[in-house]
Amino acid sequence: MGGSRAWCVYLLGGAAVLAVFVLLPYGMPRDLLYALIGLSCVTVTLFSAARLRNVAALPWALMGIGQLCAVVGDSLWVYYEHIAEVNPFPSAADGLYLLQYPIVVAALLMLARHHRSPGDREGRLDAAILIVGLSLPYWVLLISPKIGHYDSLLVQVTALGYPLGDVLLLAALVRLLTGSGARTPAFRMIATALVCILAGDVIFVLLEDPQGFSLSLGVLPFLAAYLIWGAAALHPSAADLLRTAPEPAPFLTARRLFTLTTVVLLAPGTLIAQLTFGFEPSAWPVAVASVLLFVLVVARMAIMLRRLEEQARRLDEVARTDTLTGLPNRRTLDAQLTREYGRAARDGTPLALAMVDLDRFKLFNDTHGHQAGDELLAGAATAWSLVITNADMLARYGGEEFVLLMPGRGLEDAEHLLAALRVVTPQGQTFSAGLALWDGRETPLELLRRADTALYAAKEAGRDRAVRAAPPAARAPRFRVPHSVVAPAAGATAPPAASGQ
Ligand code: GH3
Ligand code: MG
Ligand code: MG
Repeated sequence: MGGSRAWCVYLLGGAAVLAVFVLLPYGMPRDLLYALIGLSCVTVTLFSAARLRNVAALPWALMGIGQLCAVVGDSLWVYYEHIAEVNPFPSAADGLYLLQYPIVVAALLMLARHHRSPGDREGRLDAAILIVGLSLPYWVLLISPKIGHYDSLLVQVTALGYPLGDVLLLAALVRLLTGSGARTPAFRMIATALVCILAGDVIFVLLEDPQGFSLSLGVLPFLAAYLIWGAAALHPSAADLLRTAPEPAPFLTARRLFTLTTVVLLAPGTLIAQLTFGFEPSAWPVAVASVLLFVLVVARMAIMLRRLEEQARRLDEVARTDTLTGLPNRRTLDAQLTREYGRAARDGTPLALAMVDLDRFKLFNDTHGHQAGDELLAGAATAWSLVITNADMLARYGGEEFVLLMPGRGLEDAEHLLAALRVVTPQGQTFSAGLALWDGRETPLELLRRADTALYAAKEAGRDRAVRAAPPAARAPRFRVPHSVVAPAAGATAPPAASGQ
């Protein structure tokens, strides 16, 4: 039989056997069939575990051993009911049934551990919220009524063992479902099987069926669990049980939010239901669960807010930075220009701006390739950044054009700085610059335009030089600008001898 379809055959065949089981009258053949269905599940699970050559083998083996405990328990019941004709409680079968819980829980925790991602604090908190919230009805309905209900300690412990085991199993299942495990078919089938077991246990405990197997529909969830679990073991994705989801789960989907809200509301809901139907309110359990839930929800909110803040900070950084060079981008330059205008106007200090453009960069790209061109851009940005001071700002304006904003520098001072940049420009490359001094009233755009015009002049004059921009058309400055730093008429400053050409 092809391995890929075996799970389907097992599931369909199992469903047919299940139909036969329902139709059979109460008696040994039916209970034997029950045990056989369980045995088939153990067999395929252990077979899968033995066949797997990866780390998924151990959790599968543990699940198989857990199921085996239950099946041996089932078989013991066949003996008690039909051969010895006794109805012992507690019995060895209970010991085996209870042993199934820690073994299966260990397998599930092993999976959950493997699926843990570094930023999984939300997942763990969600799991805690769900576990606390869902434990409350277990406590109120199944655990607390049993406390002090029995004379013998052994009977008491065994009777409590089932709902406590269920809470453990539920906790492990919730942890698994809130982790980042890939939702493979095998993963989903295991989760479904566990939900069947939990549902079956609740039905079983609530009905307190003394005959155990005499309930025909009550045991159906357990049989369904065996079949689904066995199908999961046969499914091709069984080997991938430890695979993590390729993409991290979004941190709060609408479904998760709905689930968390519903579970948190179980606490007040329990009280409301008890008061409505005239039961004694479980004040203390509800109070304790509510306190825990409040604390967990607040912690969840705090983590989410911190994550949002961090994302906003990172986004802001990305929006303000040029990816290739790591320099501030044009948007940041615009904002900084406005700030520096304010400062220069307030303090009466000069504000120089240079438009810097690499010479013959297209030729460099064509000769050495775009990658090398990128490296030159990034290298120049780094080298220049090491030369300028904290007060200056170098931004990438676009392409191979940069803007150097120099608060507090007059034209001469700015020319010195540009000469220093020229010396450190990588790979023997040169640049041209257009230099303008803010006149105290022109807009940032006008200042940039003047510098750009001067840059064109520098290119025309033979490149590898800085050219001072012509002063703007004469008009009274709005702010006082020191005389000594106002630009003279346009003129080229010779490049340093070392880099002249
Ligand atoms: P000039 O001396 O007159 O400035 O000549 P140029 O070749 O430097 O100027 P031109 O405007 O003719 O070419 C600029 C080139 O810059 C063209 C474009 O492919 C290149 N360029 C723009 N942005 C990038 C970039 O991010 N990476 C690389 N590798 N090249 C870029
Ligand atoms: Mg250029
Ligand atoms: Mg250019």
